[in-house]
Amino acid sequence: MSVPRLRFAPSPTGYLHVGGARTALFNWLYARKYGGQFLLRIEDTDKARSTDESTRAIFEGLEWLGLTWDEDVVYQGANLERHQVDARRLLDSGAAYRCFCTREELDQRRAEAEARKEPFKYDRRCDALPAAEVERRVAAGMPFTIRFRVPDGTTSWDDMVHGTISFPNKDIEDFVILRSDGTPIYNLAVVSDDIAMRITIVMRGDDHISNTPKQIMLYRALGAELPTFAHLPMIHGLDGKKLSKRHGATAVGDYQHMGILPQAMLNFLALLGWSPGNDIEVMTVPQMIELFSADGLLKKAAVFDTAKLEWMNGQHLSLLSSADIEPRVTPAIVRAGLATAGELAAKRDWYLALLDQLKVRSRTIDDIVRQAEPYLKDDITYDPAAEAKQWKDRPATADLLRAAGDALKALPAWEPPLMEEALRALAEARGLAGGKVFQPLRVALTGLSVSPGIFDVLVLLGRERSLARIDAAVRHLAG
Ligand code: GLU
Repeated sequence: MSVPRLRFAPSPTGYLHVGGARTALFNWLYARKYGGQFLLRIEDTDKARSTDESTRAIFEGLEWLGLTWDEDVVYQGANLERHQVDARRLLDSGAAYRCFCTREELDQRRAEAEARKEPFKYDRRCDALPAAEVERRVAAGMPFTIRFRVPDGTTSWDDMVHGTISFPNKDIEDFVILRSDGTPIYNLAVVSDDIAMRITIVMRGDDHISNTPKQIMLYRALGAELPTFAHLPMIHGLDGKKLSKRHGATAVGDYQHMGILPQAMLNFLALLGWSPGNDIEVMTVPQMIELFSADGLLKKAAVFDTAKLEWMNGQHLSLLSSADIEPRVTPAIVRAGLATAGELAAKRDWYLALLDQLKVRSRTIDDIVRQAEPYLKDDITYDPAAEAKQWKDRPATADLLRAAGDALKALPAWEPPLMEEALRALAEARGLAGGKVFQPLRVALTGLSVSPGIFDVLVLLGRERSLARIDAAVRHLAG
């Protein structure tokens, strides 16, 4: 078996779209899994729409995701000469012919066919020209395109995702491969480049299925071995429509700037059209490579759900160590005005312990920052919803919190087992379940109704600050 060679071939006409990133990822995973090579080709033949800025955005997006390519980037536009040589070879072998019909003539014939409610297909009239006439027109400098002569029969392939796909050739017209200005049409450029790059697997979006029979015919006519084709399902929004800007951010860079971790983005993208089986969802990159297989590729359209992406990000946050996420969280805390980098560095052990507690309860870096506030600021504000829920009977809550404060104040050491014993004894004495003490206390300590475990909160805040917060809550409730 030869080494698999795959490529990602984006057109640099915009940012790196999540659909493109998904295609790149699947090619990359396949190459990494089977010891193959992953190549990058920038399809910049459409000079009017291609920009250097888009090319840069594609590089940046792939680099952020860690989808590294194995050889120098190939720029399709630099291969113009080879594309022309290949078109000429097809002409010389008789697989293609010159077509002198002008765009205006073709447009008119198409309009006439439409008026007759017939599908338009090029009628091969230039293929019927006598050789001498063709020579005369060429000598007279008449512009011509080169058309591929579609043979009779059926074109089929065994798609890695869809199984056998067949197209009757009669439905395909003799298609242009080289324009009159000498530039190649997409199908010729792609095939010529894929042959030159020795690509063995062409994995790309479903939207290219209809190009594949034409490309297969070109491979055959050029005498080249066919690659394996794999067509990945389209990505839809939650409403079942093709993913577009209407559904929110579709650029990979937008998610990078929203604080999504690259490994969470990759994991999320990996599940758009692939199932590792066994209900596995959360995977590190090495696990994705390990589990990846063509059998798990799915046919049906994948759904892009940003809530799932956030959830995935939370899962990956909790897999990282607090030291790993520190460089991402610190600037966000500084920006939010909760502490300076120097203050955090001065109490780094405490800060890392805090991050350990918060990361498992957060989906994004912003969530961590929000939850960190009560530990970093002197004053807290009580979340009105938490207050309404946990402090319903205000005089009784004030009384309960006062007793909890007294019990904690009396502890010989600020340690969780002692705290737990004291607070459970208080609950029991009052005929309450533990939670009926812990929940109101949580609001007193953090202002929020969700936080790390209550004893962890007491330890993170320290004795003095905890007791002061309980006092403040009692005053607030009694006042
Ligand atoms: N440039 C094409 C696209 O962006 C690539 C198609 C292919 O992979 O063959 O859709």
